[in-house]
Amino acid sequence: MSPYRTHYSKELNQDSDGKEVVVAGWVEDIRNLGSIAFIILRDRQGTLQITTFKKEHPEVFKKLVSLSRESVISVRGICRANEKVRNGYEIIPKDVEILSRAETPLPMGIVDKVNVEMDTRLDNRFLDLRREEVRAIFLIRDKIIDSAREFLRKEGFIEVHTPKIISSASEGGTNLFRIKYFERDAFLAQSPQLYKQMLMATGFDRVYEIGWYFRAEEHNTRRHLNESTAIDVEMAFIENEEDVMKILERMILHICRKIEGMEELSRLGIEITAPSLPLPRIRYDEAIDMIRKKGLEIEWGSDLGSDEERAVGDVMKERGVSFYFITKYPLDAKPFYTMPEGNLSRSFDLFCNGIEIASGSQRIHDHDLLEKRLREDGLDPDDFKAYLKAFRYGMPPHGGFGMGIERLVMSLLNLKNIRECILFPRDRNRLTP
Ligand code: ATP
Ligand code: MG
Repeated sequence: MSPYRTHYSKELNQDSDGKEVVVAGWVEDIRNLGSIAFIILRDRQGTLQITTFKKEHPEVFKKLVSLSRESVISVRGICRANEKVRNGYEIIPKDVEILSRAETPLPMGIVDKVNVEMDTRLDNRFLDLRREEVRAIFLIRDKIIDSAREFLRKEGFIEVHTPKIISSASEGGTNLFRIKYFERDAFLAQSPQLYKQMLMATGFDRVYEIGWYFRAEEHNTRRHLNESTAIDVEMAFIENEEDVMKILERMILHICRKIEGMEELSRLGIEITAPSLPLPRIRYDEAIDMIRKKGLEIEWGSDLGSDEERAVGDVMKERGVSFYFITKYPLDAKPFYTMPEGNLSRSFDLFCNGIEIASGSQRIHDHDLLEKRLREDGLDPDDFKAYLKAFRYGMPPHGGFGMGIERLVMSLLNLKNIRECILFPRDRNRLTP
């Protein structure tokens, strides 16, 4: 137990009434009325009130009222039931220990209702995270990751970690960060794609990774980061991409059920209702029709941009649907490892409120077809030797998906900017803090 605290704010109850307790946290507010002063103290659970009387403890009174906001203190005192204060109990202090004084003025307010610019908030993220509604996002994020893990383990997936320093492009994309690796060049991994596929040749059968994507996306958008996190899943002995979609939609349902009762949601003014399964599956062809009916021009065969995705999202919203798949994309719109089906592919994207949150597919497991598709995509099979080798000595049919964690949090919580969903975002302009 900490020497600075016996109780958190929400642990004060009838049992503590009249007893000595020690509480600790940040000084959120001080109201000095001359002979009496009220201090609002904030800890990880919430806030509590400290009520100090000048006459009774002049030293303690003086110490408390002279504090700067956001200083860290530990207070020993008597807990007293008082129905007029926020959580029903106040502390009458006997002793105050100042653990850390906050400088003034603060770079940004914590409880003030003024709007703070995103950049100011991110420059002072440690302060920003003291705000209840910001902390709520990360508490929900934590629960999402925890429930995804819980679900995948129960389904027999094992957690793996694949290299983030790689020698060549995993998907032949151009958006890779180049780094110095001793005498050579290397890259930061844009996804664990090639490695999780190679693991399908090992007999692990079902793997998942919660890790990082590094993508040198040039453009600053509200839904792209240069460093993001994702849940990647790969599973073997599947019949087709439908088997993968079933795992993904059940994982989404499990996550929604786990978070739908969280009080943090009400702090954000959000309600989440678990979707009913199966989630709607919209074929790419149908999606194109929907988009054209919304008045947008789109050529068959091209990938959907954010406007097109939103158009489909609007149609689905009118139908009261927040989660849905778009399936069977044209082969050319998907990466080389995607299993062909005529000129289409066994692929899918999962959307939540008009935003892409996951992409997946059945993969090619035949070595020669894979090599052919690499070439057709303008890639050199020689760059993929180590990967291709895993397909030559027994590779079962397999498939999987990658789901962006920030994208999921953002779309579930209806946040406008993906930067809200990662502690210290990396974007085109931001490398600190
Ligand atoms: P988009 O088309 O939205 O740029 P993508 O199709 O290039 O994404 P994938 O390669 O399919 O992305 O990656 C799988 C998932 O990872 C995406 O569905 C998304 O949730 C997430 N993701 C991909 N790139 C980013 C990024 N730059 N920032 C945040 N999340 C990302
Ligand atoms: Mg995608």
